[in-house]
Amino acid sequence: MFIDEVYERIDFLETVEKISGISRTAVERILSGRSFDISALPALLSPAAADYIEQMAQIAAERSRERFGNTILLYAPLYLSNECINGCRYCGFSAINKNLRRRTLTISEVEREFGAIIKTGIKHILLVSGEQPIKVNIEYLKEVIGLGVDAASSLGIEIYPLDIDDYKTLSDCGAENLVIYQETYEQKRYRQVHPSGKKKNIFWRIAAPDWAGIAGFWGFGVGALLGLNENAAADVYFAALHADYLRNRYWRANISISLPRLRYAENLFKPHAVTDAKFVQYLLALRIVFYDIGLTLSTRETSALRDNLIGLGITQLSAASKTEPGGYTEKSYATPQFYVEDSRSVEEVLAMLKDKGFEGVAKDSWRQDIRAQR
Ligand code: SF4
Repeated sequence: MFIDEVYERIDFLETVEKISGISRTAVERILSGRSFDISALPALLSPAAADYIEQMAQIAAERSRERFGNTILLYAPLYLSNECINGCRYCGFSAINKNLRRRTLTISEVEREFGAIIKTGIKHILLVSGEQPIKVNIEYLKEVIGLGVDAASSLGIEIYPLDIDDYKTLSDCGAENLVIYQETYEQKRYRQVHPSGKKKNIFWRIAAPDWAGIAGFWGFGVGALLGLNENAAADVYFAALHADYLRNRYWRANISISLPRLRYAENLFKPHAVTDAKFVQYLLALRIVFYDIGLTLSTRETSALRDNLIGLGITQLSAASKTEPGGYTEKSYATPQFYVEDSRSVEEVLAMLKDKGFEGVAKDSWRQDIRAQR
């Protein structure tokens, strides 16, 4: 388990100090070498590396081209519910947000949303929900996955942590990717921003990818929510350790990292700003040290920034996302989790990629073939 083998052996605040104390000489030494691994990450995340962004971008672009060529996978989130029992202080869906317009989609509404997404050409679909285990329970999720499994090229879930048996049930129905961001890996900060609900237990959340891996999931998306912790670089480092552990432990699985930045939601949380420059540095650092781990960029980021990052290591983009349940088929009354910054259509994102010499992959029939053979 990641908790015993890695997490409990490394101190968060010592990591903060280590990263902030790195010298320019150490960064130069690393960048002048030709082989990179996770031991180089503290230096590349450090304030000292901020002056070497151009060099880092060149290395990241070379490694990205070598390993991933010119393809970028496109996916769409399907929000099932914005109901939640947790009191996360930073999220629009939080139970403490009394003004929220809440909604859980009925099965027939989910079917319509699937249809609307598939019509855009995107067949990689991520099912997203707040934690409302009475309504969004295993029976409901089984029905939802059953509705989408034949038409989708891949189905992922971004929901609350489950135990091994429940992950196995969903895996058997056809869910293959688990996306679960740790928010922050620092225990003290985690407790501050998760004052109530089951999510209070940091270990339950950190363990979730291991439970899903044991249950047979094929892919994992991990990450940290930048803006929650003033020591963002240390959170990126821990997310990288988590990804590295999962890659070694579940070696057949696809692993990806995302670094969502906090956006305005319908509450009063004030994020610790992570500038575009820092954000880009962190992504480049991850691409340099990880040759085969995917990097995901959502519509939380602006179209200009997303366009500029193409070719520097991003492997998956969400496109034309709606972040409120029901948003693909109607002007939903439900409150979105956050307001998207890049609202371009799938065609516009594909055209942008083409202009840059990239191909957007919105569906993979071979994945459906493999799933059918299992
Ligand atoms: S972050 Fe997730 S668990 Fe927390 S309030 Fe939002 S939807 Fe609920």
